[in-house]
Amino acid sequence: MTTQYSICELNTDNIFDISDELWQKNCQEKQLLLRYLAVPVKEDESKLWLAIDDENNLNALEMFAFMVNKQIEPVLVASDELKYLLNALSPERNQLYEVNELIYGQQSLASNSDEPINRSDPIIQLLDNLFKFCLSKNASDIHIEPRKEKLIIRLRIDGVLHIYKTLSHTLTNRVVSRIKLLAKLDISETRLPQDGQFNFTTALAETLDFRVSTLPTSYGEKIVLRLQKNKPTHFDFLTLGFTNEQQATLLNALKQPQGLILVTGPTGSGKSITLYTALSHLNQTDKHILTAEDPIEIEIDGLIQTQVNRGINLDFSQLLRTFLRQDPDIIMLGEIRDEESAKIALRASQTGHLVLSTLHTNDAPSAIERLTKLGIQEYEIRNSLLLVVAQRLVRKLCNKCLGKGCDDCYQGYKGRIGVYQCLSRPPFAKEFEKQTGCLDFETLLDSAKQKIAENQTDLTEVERVLGYA
Ligand SMILES: [Zn+2]
Repeated sequence: MTTQYSICELNTDNIFDISDELWQKNCQEKQLLLRYLAVPVKEDESKLWLAIDDENNLNALEMFAFMVNKQIEPVLVASDELKYLLNALSPERNQLYEVNELIYGQQSLASNSDEPINRSDPIIQLLDNLFKFCLSKNASDIHIEPRKEKLIIRLRIDGVLHIYKTLSHTLTNRVVSRIKLLAKLDISETRLPQDGQFNFTTALAETLDFRVSTLPTSYGEKIVLRLQKNKPTHFDFLTLGFTNEQQATLLNALKQPQGLILVTGPTGSGKSITLYTALSHLNQTDKHILTAEDPIEIEIDGLIQTQVNRGINLDFSQLLRTFLRQDPDIIMLGEIRDEESAKIALRASQTGHLVLSTLHTNDAPSAIERLTKLGIQEYEIRNSLLLVVAQRLVRKLCNKCLGKGCDDCYQGYKGRIGVYQCLSRPPFAKEFEKQTGCLDFETLLDSAKQKIAENQTDLTEVERVLGYA
């Protein structure tokens, strides 16, 4: 007689949440489990929940029903989850997450893969679609957020978070476990933050890398997946959104043998890429360029790049002092953040070095106030300051649909462009005066309005970024 089995969804517990007792039993029976391709994951007095990857695996169900004399509840899991679980069975339970034969790419988007994709597993399908969507929309981060009654997946596209899907909270454990499994994290550890990474291969044989970070919250573990993108290799001021005039101003400042060039704006306003573009322009064989960064974001051949390390007290100031003994022509300091780094940067820029750095200020003119507050004398600023660039990133209107929204973009936007304000020392002027400095746009908003007039972005987006209009 054949019993009818209906597949059971283990919603509240994930399949890796096996009791120690059952785990030990499974280890002793590993050979049997391998033969029947089934793993008991939960047990009570009358029932045994059995993980299988094929609902037609009646052999296993019948065998276990006979062996344990309990009602069997089949739990359908993905083949790779089952394989992983079987591989991991060892009396030393903490080895569980070190053995990982999974390479997600082999069964993800690769259309010519030898292994069949288990399309029937809703979680795999969900993540597959999610990753495909991220690729097509060039998303930078995926947020998996358990809320009180929902699981929300949000994506950051061109710097803005959007809701991708709202799911039932009952899926939380499966989705979270699946990602933790891919990232080789300890699935049984849910109270401490963890981080890891994994990669997968697309149908076009592109390998994509994800950084994974988990955070225990009141409603479960929140996960952020950060897509590691290909770093830019080509640097161009006009592509970044500088106007022709602004490019000329920048190139003029970069030609100077000594002085200070500052790029200002909040975190995420694209200051680094502006600095890298300037450095790649200066990157000639007859120049000695040293950088102090936190962290090194892009490696450029020809530059000598160093990274601050607070753990051993190697901070910006320490690096900068060492730089001055290394005979540099050009110094890039990731950030002027305190009085000490400000003073050393100013001194370097007055003693035959071109110094590039960043400051956190809202616009270009406030950079001077900020330096003054950091204890720099006005005459020093006049002597050394060459140029201040203030900047923000705004989303670009999609070329194809001009903001209406199409398959090629997300809500009418595609990619981002910089909006810049330059405060520069007038050509041939020996000193920099706030009054006599050339300010190309009165405000960043004026600069942004030009981008609106050129149909590169729109008012809604500019108001979102600049907050006033
Ligand atoms: Zn479009």
